[in-house]
Parts: sequence; C-alpha cells; structure tokens
Amino acid sequence: MIDGTVIKSTGSWYIVKTNDGNEVPCRIKGKFRLGKLKVTNPVAVGDKVAVNIEKDEITVGTITKIYPRTNYVIRQSPRKKHFVHLLASNIDQAIVIVTLREPSLKIGFIDRFLLMIEPYSIPAVIVFNKTDLHKPEDQEYLFSIISIYTNIGYKVLLTSNETEDGIENFRAILKDKITLICGQSGVGKSTLINSIVPQLDLRTFEISEYSGKGQHTTTFAEMYSLENGGQIIDTPGIKTLGFNHFEELDVAHNFREFFITSKNCKYNNCMHRNEPNCAVKTAIENGEISELRYENYIAILEEVEDQNYWEIKKDI
Ligand code: GDP
Ligand code: ZN
Repeated sequence: MIDGTVIKSTGSWYIVKTNDGNEVPCRIKGKFRLGKLKVTNPVAVGDKVAVNIEKDEITVGTITKIYPRTNYVIRQSPRKKHFVHLLASNIDQAIVIVTLREPSLKIGFIDRFLLMIEPYSIPAVIVFNKTDLHKPEDQEYLFSIISIYTNIGYKVLLTSNETEDGIENFRAILKDKITLICGQSGVGKSTLINSIVPQLDLRTFEISEYSGKGQHTTTFAEMYSLENGGQIIDTPGIKTLGFNHFEELDVAHNFREFFITSKNCKYNNCMHRNEPNCAVKTAIENGEISELRYENYIAILEEVEDQNYWEIKKDI
C-alpha cells in the first residue's frame, strides 16, 4: 500500500501520483459517498488516497481509501440529472479566467463561478485575460466591473498572453498553492497554462475554429505541477455552471455581500425579492450592491425555484 494524490480522473480510471513519484492508473474499490449527494465521480483530482499496487505487465493500482478532504468543489453534473460532479478537492484557491473581448464578457459566468466556490471559503481570483484587445473606450466599463468584485473582497488580475502583461503576477499568485482554474472556452486558459507550464503544450484553438458549440475536447480535470512549487488543476470543457443541487437559501447565503447585508432584512429567510424592509434591495437602490450581481442572483434563483417546483410536483 502506498499513498498518493489523484492527478487525473477520466471517468473509470484515475491517475495517481504516488509519494515515490510514479504515475499509476488506478481503479476504485468499494463505494465512496459524499453525504446524501449522488456523485458522478467518487474520487476527485486533488484527493489524497491510499493505493494497492498490482505489478503485472503494466503497473496498475486500486484506490482503497480516500483521506479526509480539507475541502472540495462540486458542480451540477452537466450530463446526469440529480447528480453532482466533484471538480477538485484539497485546493488553496480558485481562479476564473474571463475576457472582455473575444469572446465578450459573460459576467453571469463569473457570478456562477463565485457561487460555486463560496460555500467552501476558498479564496477566488478573477483573471481578465487578453488585455491587449482592450480599446480605450473599454476602460470605464472594465473599471466598473472590476470594482464590483474588488469591493466585495475578490482579487482581480489582468493578463495578456500577447504582450505578457500580468503573466508574472499570475505566476506569483500560483506559487506554492494548489489552484483550481476554470474558464469558458476561448478565453485563453490553455495558452495561459502553457505559458506557465511550458513543457505541457495543451492544445489551443484559433478563434476561427470555434463554432461556439459542438467542440469535443477532453473534459477531464487534470493537475499539473509548477516548476517553482505549487500545482494547478485545469478543468477543461466547462460550458456553464448549474445549481440544481442548491436550495434557494443556499443561493442567497452564497452571494457574499447579500448575505452580510441580509442581517438587516426584516425576515431572516428573506430572498430579497419583494419582501418588505429588505436591506439588500435598499443597498441596491443606494448603489452599495451591484445591480448586475442582483440580476444574476435572480436568474440563478429562478432556475433553482423552477427545479424545486418540478421536484415537488413529481412527489405529489
Ligand atoms: P481556451 O479555450 O480558454 O483554452 O483558449 P485557448 O488558449 O485555446 O485560446 C483561444 C484563442 O485565444 C487562441 O487563438 C489564442 O491564441 C488566443 N489567445 C489566448 N490568449 C490571448 C491573449 O492574451 N490575447 C489575444 N489577443 N489572444 C489570445
Ligand atoms: Zn432581503
């Protein structure tokens, strides 16, 4: 038996980097659960595990134990209804990469990403890549978006693979940490990762290759070690983030500035819609809480409500 870390998960096989430095394909033995939640993948990249090595023609192993996780990030499974997908575990920070242009900013994705991370008290960083494409007239808009997030305590970084602006800062925040990296396709995530893990050579795509949809690349998370210390976990192929494993109050409690302000709402289960004396709505009117965040909050809340409505109907 030897301990190691899961560095790749491909569905039925897991690659474990054992503490003696080997990378061993492993299967799982036994059933692993995540409380009441049904998970598509019981073992996540980042998991510390114990492995039984079987030496045959090729070396393979069996994961017999998952050590307790310090944290983990889950998302609604994109394929299996009512299942969640374990994205990664034992991480120090999470980064979302976005762009203002090419592709144009999806601020909803930032808020979904932050909502996914917030329950686990993991620091999150927002990286605006492709700053070389910014036009002078973008500055005001960019500044207003950046202040929404810095005002509520998130770190924001600007990078460009073209000019290499900000790449050193990006490298610096990764040093000696285990970092989960997400981003919708086209934002330059692979290019950024290649520039900090040069021997890697992840496949990148020319913009012209994007039809937006129907692109089949690998969708398996993978952990890479950085030369100067630290690891990153790349999560390819995330198109959107859904929350059917959330209750409505989970949404309200994990928009962090709403949660802080909600202590002054009249009702302690206030959802900040049309309830009287809602401190969150007052803060929006006063410009203390961003209207854009509120719009995204309502959109996610409605998704979750619709979901629960159909669940209840089915039970009757
Ligand atoms: P991914 O889907 O997020 O992994 O994106 P890729 O790394 O494949 O990049 C998508 C496209 O954006 C490619 O054509 C890259 O050359 C281009 N790209 C990546 N980073 C930058 C950047 O900082 N500036 C500009 N102008 N283009 C970039
Ligand atoms: Zn309220």
